[in-house]
Amino acid sequence: MKVLSSLLVLVILFGFNSTEQLYFTNPTDQDIEALIANMSIEQKVGQTCQITLDAIYQTDEKGQALNPVQIDPKKLDAAINTFHVGSILNVGAHTLSRDEWTSIMSAVHLPYLKKETNIPILYGIDAIHGVNYTIGGTLFPQEIGLAATWNPALAEQMGQVTAYECRASGIPWNFSPVLDLGRQPLWSRHFETLGEDPYLCTQMGAALVKGYQGSTKEVDNFHVAACLKHFVGYSASFSGRDRTPAWIPEKYMRELYFPAFKEAVAQGALTLMINSGVVNGIPGHSNYQLLTKTLKQDWGFKGFVVSDWEDFIMLHTVHRTAPSLADAAIQAFNAGVDMSMVPSNRQYKTYCQDMIAAVKSGKISMTRLDDAVRRILYVKKQLGLFGNPVPNLDEYTLFGGEDFKKAAKAAALESITLLKNDNAALPLTAGQRILVAGPGANGLNMLNGAWTHTWQGLDTNYNTKGALTIYKALAQVFPASNISHIQGVELYLEKDFEASRFLDIAAYKKALKKNDVIVICVGELPSTEKPGDIRSLQLDDKQKELVRLAKAANKKVVLVLLEARPRIIHDIEPLCDAIVQAYLPGDQGGIAIAELFSGKEDFSGHLPYTYPRYDGVIEFYDHPRSVDRSKSGDFSAYNPQWDFGYGLSYNNAQIGKAKFESKNEKDGNFIISVAVSNPNQKVVKTLVPVYLSDLYASTSPEGKRLIGFTKTTLNPGENKTLYFKFDANSLKRVAIDGQWRAEKGTFEISCGEGKLVFELEDDINFN
Ligand code: BGC
Repeated sequence: MKVLSSLLVLVILFGFNSTEQLYFTNPTDQDIEALIANMSIEQKVGQTCQITLDAIYQTDEKGQALNPVQIDPKKLDAAINTFHVGSILNVGAHTLSRDEWTSIMSAVHLPYLKKETNIPILYGIDAIHGVNYTIGGTLFPQEIGLAATWNPALAEQMGQVTAYECRASGIPWNFSPVLDLGRQPLWSRHFETLGEDPYLCTQMGAALVKGYQGSTKEVDNFHVAACLKHFVGYSASFSGRDRTPAWIPEKYMRELYFPAFKEAVAQGALTLMINSGVVNGIPGHSNYQLLTKTLKQDWGFKGFVVSDWEDFIMLHTVHRTAPSLADAAIQAFNAGVDMSMVPSNRQYKTYCQDMIAAVKSGKISMTRLDDAVRRILYVKKQLGLFGNPVPNLDEYTLFGGEDFKKAAKAAALESITLLKNDNAALPLTAGQRILVAGPGANGLNMLNGAWTHTWQGLDTNYNTKGALTIYKALAQVFPASNISHIQGVELYLEKDFEASRFLDIAAYKKALKKNDVIVICVGELPSTEKPGDIRSLQLDDKQKELVRLAKAANKKVVLVLLEARPRIIHDIEPLCDAIVQAYLPGDQGGIAIAELFSGKEDFSGHLPYTYPRYDGVIEFYDHPRSVDRSKSGDFSAYNPQWDFGYGLSYNNAQIGKAKFESKNEKDGNFIISVAVSNPNQKVVKTLVPVYLSDLYASTSPEGKRLIGFTKTTLNPGENKTLYFKFDANSLKRVAIDGQWRAEKGTFEISCGEGKLVFELEDDINFN
């Protein structure tokens, strides 16, 4: 780790061959302008170009990266000194050690340290649930689980730890958080979202950004630039398949899909990545209205916009809005994308050449190019990369340590959601003989999901390192002699859908006989993006059969869902005594489940989405009344398996009747309070949500929508009063004329027991 810092000192003391160029180590805004004024077109275009690490790796004769990885000096020289590439991303085939990261960072920053170039490289990675590409890093729940905690403090903590460990790997930029709304459960990246609700997503997303970037004006050496993605509507594809078209009416775009992005932009998020799909017929990467008008002009976004993987190219090869690669680059760049992720060696060179020609011919204006470069340099400056692109990695002594693991465990504990617990099947007791079965019982892959050590998260090499599987954790928390394990079925991917097969049905049946409780851990193999496309939400039948057989043997059945997306289980739900949604809880998920099952810890997770009962009926909690209407005309049709916000606990707090502390029915301001108390002998964490119903409006209103929440911890016997403050922003919707408006009339507010009524006297308009 010392290598880098000593290298830096040497370079600064003695200098290297330098070309005549401006070299700022701590540039002001004027310095940035001076840099831009002195750059050639080639240098400017290079700044807008991002390549993957594989493009500069040394390879063997078969084209495979060497192990340990090494940078090819010739490829690096071409990228940085000839093409002036401004950014590098990714990890190559698998997770690297910190020493490997150190050697990569010393290599990629050397041209800058030698003053061959005067602009440092910006390195980015997908550390989406902790530093999933550095060996020994701390792995948190995936975002869907994080959202289930309903605890922004935990999201901020995950952001902080991840940022620290990214920097400890020499990486200052994280392609996270995903702020796409989880409204298409078939989508392979549902687990990467913060759930279906715009308010919950906004709060949790803002907390993550704060954790990543910190609270200082400039981002310090322990924080990283966040990247909001994927702007916008990527998650809403009609078919549920990755990167396929979505249709989102403007009203819903503004009410549902924009808010989390808008808030994070207002908060100062430094970068943003684009939706690879097509919304309302327009590819995300060529949408001038969204990228330039809405994001940059209306919202005042100061950072830069990066494309997704090969997406300039896709405008030509997939979306067909551009008849050539050169046209595609011009289209995307002029729409407002500032940096192109053109990963491969060949692609990036073509991109640079096409862009240079486009600027020279006037198809891209110098003003537009300067704007993109200015944004990129601004981010590099905010990250403190000038002068010192890599801090001394020895400073990061907390990397992978116990404190960080505790933070990840706290998030896992608060995320895991108890959905059913008939006859107090949980907690389990020490005397019970427990069989832990199912494909997720004894591996870390299904606890972590994709983006773990590898892109698809399927590498089992990491399964033995550090963390406990569910089976091993139960054997640690309960008397080990009472805990046994049989997998029962094996999951595998067949073509583009998953399948499973019995490993040994006779052995499973035999094992059932010897046990009292069967903990069945089901779910799906890790996957994301295209490889995760599926045809149906049904949980695979062989996994369901594990439940049927256990019930037929008259055993107590505890179902653990390790799910990247909600799978249909309405047929086996009645056969289960307890059902626990663990989402993808990360490395600490096993021990968290065991401590929840023993009763040492209590459940406090709540669903961040509506759990569907049927494959063909996908609904959301904030639906209008027409969705409630049944065939017979009454209003009982809305019938998900479990509702948004659902989650049980062993011990419950009492939540009283809310009351107005103050209300102004003219300007729409109001404060409500609610008393909560804990009558139990144990600490209780309780969620108090606040929902609003607009009874009549110019467009059919949602039955209810979330406008506030608090997760509060109560000691045994403790009472407290919670206060929630609102203004007319909480009442507003996009009205029939397209204007944001709090429309006069009656609103009902639900918090705790009963409802409060608020009468807004007059319309209030918003921009
Ligand atoms: C994904 C992005 C990711 C990027 C870089 C893309 O395929 O859609 O979410 O940040 O790759 O790895």
